[in-house]
Amino acid sequence: MTVRVRFAPSPTGMFHVGGARSALQNWIYAKQQGGVFVLRIEDTDAARNKPEWTEGILSALDWIGISRGSYEGPHFQSENAGEHRAAAARLYESGRAYYCDCTREDVQARTGSQYQGYDGYHRDRGLGPGPGHALRFRTPDEGATVVVDLIRGEPTFENKLIEDFVIARGDGSPVFLLANVVDDMTMGITHVIRAEEHLPNTPKQQLLWDALGVKPPIWAHVPVVVNEKRQKLSKRRDKVALEAYREEGYLPGAMRNYLMLLGWAPSGDREIVPWSVIEEEFRLEEVNPSPAFFDEKKLRAFNGDYIRALPVAEFIDACQPWLTGTGTIAPPPWQPEEFDADAFAAVAPLAQTRITVLSEIVPNVDFLFLASPLIDEAAWAKTMKDGSAELLDDAVAAFEALESWDAESLKSTLEAVGAERGLKLGKTQAPVRVAVTGRTVGLPLFESLEVLGRERTLTRMRAARLRLV
Ligand code: GLU
Repeated sequence: MTVRVRFAPSPTGMFHVGGARSALQNWIYAKQQGGVFVLRIEDTDAARNKPEWTEGILSALDWIGISRGSYEGPHFQSENAGEHRAAAARLYESGRAYYCDCTREDVQARTGSQYQGYDGYHRDRGLGPGPGHALRFRTPDEGATVVVDLIRGEPTFENKLIEDFVIARGDGSPVFLLANVVDDMTMGITHVIRAEEHLPNTPKQQLLWDALGVKPPIWAHVPVVVNEKRQKLSKRRDKVALEAYREEGYLPGAMRNYLMLLGWAPSGDREIVPWSVIEEEFRLEEVNPSPAFFDEKKLRAFNGDYIRALPVAEFIDACQPWLTGTGTIAPPPWQPEEFDADAFAAVAPLAQTRITVLSEIVPNVDFLFLASPLIDEAAWAKTMKDGSAELLDDAVAAFEALESWDAESLKSTLEAVGAERGLKLGKTQAPVRVAVTGRTVGLPLFESLEVLGRERTLTRMRAARLRLV
């Protein structure tokens, strides 16, 4: 039997990091089993679907390493509507489903309590199809439904606690529960690896598989992803869109590696391992069923490690979207013609060890490409104290006299200017840094001045000096 898994997102919003994790788990499982990964877009909620969300899913998958053309699909749930209806009709004809026209209020009036599920009123009343008649599945009165789940063992659900649930609405359209099962059936899916949120649907869906006479798949419900307060990640509260991480400058390699560590770890107490090791060592059966903490701080540190591990040339390439503002990434504060690739290449190794997400490259190097630096006024006020004007005067004079404009000479020269005033280098550097880069923190100062060049450095120092009059 060929293993066939599917990833079945609904295109109703930004693609979620939890979705990316399920996709990767499916992807690896298929690869390990010599199986097939199928992408199915569950687009039957016409009111909430948008084509751009579908495109967002495809490009997010591509970014994370599940590239277009390397899987089966995308198939679209809407294309299988005929089968969904046919399955509903079969269930009705075989007596496994019946029509019902009760409203929630009707049921409540009969049972006299809070609505706690359907009471089976129409089970044996022989109501036929018609407008407003929903089709309900006749759940067995006895026995239990045992779900075989690779992560959770064999959760067992007593059938008598499962209400006769709706499988097609009053307008005849099949609901998600049924469409999802019929699609899995038509697509020959053998393993359903999906989010834990769907576990309550699973006994109902397995009853549908049984009633339609097909062996149900093996299930694997992967744990819910939570924030630091142990709340399920939500798009209203948390940063959940994979796209947001991409735009901030997370590397896809770091992102997918981190996602795989949610509830699982490779052998030997290692976290940073090549993707090939994850593909080899990952075991769905080893995934911890408890909620997985999505730790953004840890992810960020992790990303910094990945950035530092890149060969410099790759780092330079990886920064390009932020330097040039390509695609959906916001343009940098300089004009395209102000960008100087050689100057960037000269400071790139210094930046590479300091930034944790690629978007941080911009404030680190903007001083190189702007005609005058963007002055952070708070940094200015904090740094430019009594004596800064004179210090800048002396530094300008000493720098003007330099024969060779290199980091080492700049450093020893400024050190000497400070020493005359009894200042350590750190204190001497600060006003120069603010004058030239506009900030108090950034790349190593003397290397920065070397790359910026004599003329621009001196112009900026003089301009700062004038402001201090
Ligand atoms: N379309 C469903 C969702 O996005 C997926 C259902 C499933 O994986 O079975 O939650």
